[in-house]
Amino acid sequence: MSGHVNSYYAATLEGALDLPRLKTRESADVCVIGAGLAGLSGALDLARLGKSVIVLEANRVGFGASGRNGGFVAAGYAEGIEAITRRVGPEQARELFGLSRDGVRLVEENIARFGITAAQSRPGALQVVRHDDESAFASAPERLQRDFGYDVEYWPTEKVRTCLKSGRYFQGLYDASAIHIHPLNYVAGLAAACIEEGVTVHEATPALRVEERDGGYAVSTAEGEVTSQHVVLCHSTYGRGLHAKLDRAVLPVATYVVATRPDPDLLDRAIDIQAAIADTRRAGDYYRRLADGRLLWGGRITTQRSEPARLAQLLKRDIVAIYPQLAALEIDYAWAGLMAYATHKMPVIGQLQSGLWVATGFGGHGLNTTAIAGRLIAEAIARGDDRYRLFEPFGMPWAGGPIGRAATQAVYWYYQARDRIDEARAQRKAGGRHGAKA
Ligand SMILES: Cc1cc2nc3c(=O)[nH]c(=O)nc-3n(C[C@H](O)[C@H](O)[C@H](O)COP(=O)(O)OP(=O)(O)OC[C@H]3O[C@@H](n4cnc5c(N)ncnc54)[C@H](O)[C@@H]3O)c2cc1C
Repeated sequence: MSGHVNSYYAATLEGALDLPRLKTRESADVCVIGAGLAGLSGALDLARLGKSVIVLEANRVGFGASGRNGGFVAAGYAEGIEAITRRVGPEQARELFGLSRDGVRLVEENIARFGITAAQSRPGALQVVRHDDESAFASAPERLQRDFGYDVEYWPTEKVRTCLKSGRYFQGLYDASAIHIHPLNYVAGLAAACIEEGVTVHEATPALRVEERDGGYAVSTAEGEVTSQHVVLCHSTYGRGLHAKLDRAVLPVATYVVATRPDPDLLDRAIDIQAAIADTRRAGDYYRRLADGRLLWGGRITTQRSEPARLAQLLKRDIVAIYPQLAALEIDYAWAGLMAYATHKMPVIGQLQSGLWVATGFGGHGLNTTAIAGRLIAEAIARGDDRYRLFEPFGMPWAGGPIGRAATQAVYWYYQARDRIDEARAQRKAGGRHGAKA
């Protein structure tokens, strides 16, 4: 038993650690709750800034979203940069976007510095529209360069279709600075790096309670306790009950992934590019070819926590709807994961009260943003820096528990319906212009 969900990533996990549960009373400068990317990124930076750190993980390192995701590491946030700019103004938006780029670089640096070759980092991400709309991307390269100093490439439909052999796709935007990785191997490498830097990590040790004690905190577990000056809550939506306000601030949103059987020759007939692909729909598909000849395909979002019984068939249908030529592709693995979303779709990073910190709400854009959250909180704790305050305008909104969840689900259904209408309209408009055949 690996203790992980049965996924392609768990089946190909390299460098798994088997870390002891906490059975004693310990103390440290900082106790981090949750060994996903947010917790481990923060722990690593704290240790490198001279702090003693204990990480408590309820399950296994990378058990949550961090070990199950699509593996795309790209600049930006779950919220679009236009909406961020409207909210905080161009100057602060530029700083926030810059941080999101730093997050990508931090992941690359960690892979290089700690020799995490099992992360299998590969370059490039291509975003595509599913309806014919030149205006969606044509001005983006100039705008992103002017406003954020960021380079992306516009691809007309003809160029997109030389790589993605599907009549469902139109224009694209290629980001050469993005990478894609094996996320669970990266998390395992990050945990090993933490341990190398002196961090103590306990698996199978859920934090049960966080209480104030002697000007600091006591974190209780089933068989032990950690006392510390600071606590960082990085348990996302896999754990609840540690902080009631936080539980109400972020919603668990599920998304699904499959990995197919290796069949590189068949895949060549559909996806002739090694970059990661995503469409721009609100609940769009995201996928990439894997080094061992498989296709990893993710999609759909829901606020239901339970996994549909026929998950593999559901996503297989989505694949064939885009690429009918892949109808013979068999699915080897299917799994689900939970992301944490605040209603403003920005990370929730900051101090809840003196010494009690939080890093959560990364949504579907957590691979780069967890890295910067860890760094900002580590710099705040170890050096008193206040860059984390850049996230203050977004704050901790109330997501409303089960009622909020129902409302959010209704919004998703509405978005999905609008996506379908937009596409049907575009396909009709495009007619034979680009040809509807793959
Ligand atoms: C299927 C899927 C696809 C995705 N694709 C992408 C993508 O391609 N690119 C991208 O940027 N983002 C993607 N994301 C989002 C990204 O994975 C997350 O935003 C990110 O991993 C969140 O990291 P985290 O550390 O906050 O949470 P998690 O990784 O969920 O970690 C939380 C950890 O806390 C532990 N825990 C919970 N309660 C307790 C407790 N009481 N005590 C101790 N430990 C506890 C859990 O066991 C878990 O290990 C995807 C997410 C999913 C689910």
